[in-house]
Amino acid sequence: MTERVYLDWNATAPLRAEAQRALQDAAGLVGNPSSVHAEGRAARWLIEQAREAVAALVGAQPADVIFTSSGTEANVLALTPAIETAGEKRPRDRLFVSAIEHPSVRAGGRFLRGAIEDIPVEADGRVNLAALAEALAPAKASRPLVSVMLANNETGVVQPVAAAAAIVHAAGGLLHVDAVQAAGRIACDIGALGADLLTLSAHKIGGAKGAGALVRAGEDIHFADPLIRGGGQERGLRAGTENVAGIAAFGAAAAAARGQLAEEAAHMLALRTLLEEGLRVISPQAVILGGASERLPNTTLFALDGIKAETAIIALDLEGVAVSAGAACSSGKVQSSHVLAAMGVSPALGRGALRVSLGWTTTQSDIERFLNAWRKLAGALSKGSKEQRGIAA
Ligand code: PLP
Repeated sequence: MTERVYLDWNATAPLRAEAQRALQDAAGLVGNPSSVHAEGRAARWLIEQAREAVAALVGAQPADVIFTSSGTEANVLALTPAIETAGEKRPRDRLFVSAIEHPSVRAGGRFLRGAIEDIPVEADGRVNLAALAEALAPAKASRPLVSVMLANNETGVVQPVAAAAAIVHAAGGLLHVDAVQAAGRIACDIGALGADLLTLSAHKIGGAKGAGALVRAGEDIHFADPLIRGGGQERGLRAGTENVAGIAAFGAAAAAARGQLAEEAAHMLALRTLLEEGLRVISPQAVILGGASERLPNTTLFALDGIKAETAIIALDLEGVAVSAGAACSSGKVQSSHVLAAMGVSPALGRGALRVSLGWTTTQSDIERFLNAWRKLAGALSKGSKEQRGIAA
C-alpha cells in the first residue's frame, strides 16, 4: 500500500519524537504534582520544566503560563469580564472579537451575548483596524476586552496584531491573542505583539491533543473568576490534577518548535511555493484566498468555481491525500465558512474552498503526490459539477 500524504496540519500535527518520548516517560510516573513526597516532586518538576519551555516559545515568564486542557479552554478562560489589572479592578464591560476568530473565541467565553461585538475584516482577510478604532471610541466602551488572532486557521492570514494592540491600549482596553495556529510557524513574542493574554494549543505544534495554555503578559493581569474552582492548581486559576504527560509533551514540543522555527518555516514555505506554482499551472482559475496578504508559511486555502469541497476531499482521500475544507470543525458539514463570508467571498466559491496545510515532515514528494492527484481530479470534478447544474461542460 502506498503511504498516505497528510496535508491537514492546521487541524492537528503529528507528535514530535521529543514529545512522544516526554509523553511516555511522564505517563510512567505515579506522583501527583501537588504531593510533597519525591514522587509528587518528580511530577511537579516535569510540569515546571514544561512551563519554562512554553514561556520561552512566546517570550513570557514561566509564572505567567497557565496550563489548560486545550486552546479552546484557554480562550474561554481568557474571555471573561472578571479580568483585573493593577490599575483597573472593575469588570470589563464589552468584548470585541474579529469576525474571523475560531468558534471558541466567537462564542465569547463568559460574556453575555449582548456585550459582544464583531470587528469586520477586509477582503484580504486582515482585521479592519479603522473599524476597531471606531468601535473602541471612548463613548462606546470604557473597559473593553478585544480578541484578535495572530493567524487565521483557514486562510493562514497573519493579522496586524501589534497595530491592533496599540489601538486597544490607547482606548484603555486589554488584548487577547489566539496564537494557536501561529505558534511554531512564525515569531510569536507576547511583548513584541503587545498582547495582554495569549492562547496556545499543544497539538498544533507537535505535542499531544488535550493540552493548552493561556499566557499572561505579567502577573498584574488577574482573573477574579477562575473558570474551574477547586484544588487551587495553576495558581488557583484552573483547578484539577494536571495532565502531567500532556504538559510534559507540550513542553518538549515547544522547545523543539522554538529551536527549529526558522529552519522549519523556510522548509514549509519552499514546499508551499512549489504547491502554489503547481496549482496555478493545473488550475489557472483557482483563487488563493487571502493570497495577497502575509500568510503562515504552511497554509494554502484555494477555491475553484464549480468544485464542491466535500466531493474534492473525498476524491483526494481516495487518492491517499488528506486535506480539509477550511476549518476542521466544519469538515463533514456542508456549511460555508464564517471566515470566507466575513471576507466577502461568494458562497458559491467559498463552498469549494480547500485547505492544504503543511508541516515540518512534509516532503517534496508529498506535494508532488497532491499535485498529481489534483491534476487527475480537477477536470473531472468541475465537469461533474457543471453537469449537475445543467451547464454543458
Ligand atoms: N484557536 C484556533 C485558531 C484554532 O485553530 C483551534 C483549533 O483548531 C483552537 C483555537 C482550538 O484549540 P484546541 O483544539 O486545542 O481546543
